[in-house]
Amino acid sequence: MKILIKNGLIVDGTGAPGYKADLLIDENKVEAIGKNLDAEGAEVIDASEKIVTPGFIDIHNHADFNIYDANQAESFVMQGMTTLLVGLCGLGITPANKVVEEYYADFGKKALSIDPKLYPRLEDCFRDFEKKGVSCNLAFLVPQGNVRACVMGLDMRPATDDELEKMKAMVRENMEAGAFGLSTGLVYPPGSATPTEELVELSKVVAEYDGIYDSHMRNEGARVLDVGMAEVIRIAREAKVRAHISHWSVISRFKVEKLTTAAIKLVQDALAEGLKITADVVPYEDGVTSLPFVLLESWVFENFLENLTKLDTRKRIKDEIFQRVFTMFLAGAPWYIRMIPKFLLKRLMLPVIGKQVVLLHTTSGEFNGKTLWEALKIRYPKKSMLDALLDFIRDEQGGVVIRIQFKDEERSVIPLLQQPFACASSDAILIRGGNNHPRTFSAFPRVIERIVREKNKLGLEEAIKKITSQPASILNIPDRGVLKPGKVADLVVFDYNNIREKATLANGNQYPDGIDYVIVNGIITVEKGEHLGMLKGQILRHKK
Ligand SMILES: [Zn+2]
Repeated sequence: MKILIKNGLIVDGTGAPGYKADLLIDENKVEAIGKNLDAEGAEVIDASEKIVTPGFIDIHNHADFNIYDANQAESFVMQGMTTLLVGLCGLGITPANKVVEEYYADFGKKALSIDPKLYPRLEDCFRDFEKKGVSCNLAFLVPQGNVRACVMGLDMRPATDDELEKMKAMVRENMEAGAFGLSTGLVYPPGSATPTEELVELSKVVAEYDGIYDSHMRNEGARVLDVGMAEVIRIAREAKVRAHISHWSVISRFKVEKLTTAAIKLVQDALAEGLKITADVVPYEDGVTSLPFVLLESWVFENFLENLTKLDTRKRIKDEIFQRVFTMFLAGAPWYIRMIPKFLLKRLMLPVIGKQVVLLHTTSGEFNGKTLWEALKIRYPKKSMLDALLDFIRDEQGGVVIRIQFKDEERSVIPLLQQPFACASSDAILIRGGNNHPRTFSAFPRVIERIVREKNKLGLEEAIKKITSQPASILNIPDRGVLKPGKVADLVVFDYNNIREKATLANGNQYPDGIDYVIVNGIITVEKGEHLGMLKGQILRHKK
């Protein structure tokens, strides 16, 4: 089957200036790019006034949790994504055993309204997906949380030598099977209990296969430099691994510019030292997460309802929450805030934070779009904030997905995204049947609409590079991400002047305007803005 795209502006993904040409696809490959191409019997797409680019590659996506069921991947494909990297933040659908199954039965169903199909081994997962078919290509990381839970349950202690050997063998098995590297989520249990030395050892295995160590850092806030990034850089150095910073952010209300500049300098110095560091940046000021997961330690989940009810365990939970929140949000505060006595800070901190947290999705379906503070006041008017918070998490059975405004577009998001070693990503998670954050439907159209067209902070060619060839080169998939004869025909045809994010916080489930055609492995999957139901995505396997 031949497809001839006529008269488009070819932005080839390399960052080179766009040029007018025709592009011919034969089977699953780009056959030719040039003036006045002709091909008998080809399906012709008129791309006059349109931009033709490689398919977008999202290097940070949590689609694995439900893309088996949502295999048309509409929210991703309709925004131009043709390849997703999944298994991020130390979380994922494989490897899995009983412990992982129970963990996701709690976390998945309750916290995120997802019911993931889990697989003991990556091969099982690949086979199942290939049988069913999916609309976009998928590449998998090995989630370190799964590996650790498989070998040592949810024990929050360093691994023994024997356990470490087992974990290394498991990482090796996954790398052999075609994983692209190892992901960590060092704020989530059990990742949060993992010492750096253990990560170095696992990363050495990844390095043997030239995979990536891809990290949701231990700290993205006030201690992003000395705790978060320092650890990533140490792992890159000691394991000689290519390290990648997931959803790179500087989350602070204080000294944001200074922190951002220092964070950039830290990577520049590491690069100058010869280390290999890359990053991805999500083009939004807010983040989405599960409330119980950012607040509670893993032991709480083992006996969830009881621990959130009994007086003595509640007291321990409250202390731990205070410690966490304190570290996350206030550690970089100026001295006069740090001088405030702790008991007073406890009382002040929660209302301040509660007013910034917006509920995106709850188990009861109540309060979507309201702030956490409002919800607690309405439902538990007589209780203290902290008690109300614990009751809320318990009564919603953990199912509270939140959005927090904690980044600054001008002072941190854009400066990080502009770095040559940084690409863009969505960090999307799809909540089926629930309200989604706009990034699930339009993270990449937003990059083009807002950061290129409106704010002029990136050139179009540069922005396209950050969502095509740059992630492709990090992932080591040289046959994608660039438009050149011989490359795989993953393409997007879009209307630069009319590309528009329509999703909002109140109604996130809206497709963007302006994405006209999406072609996956040479098959037209989106035509004139409509998903055709094609399932021609491939499971990509990392090659050494
Ligand atoms: Zn993450």
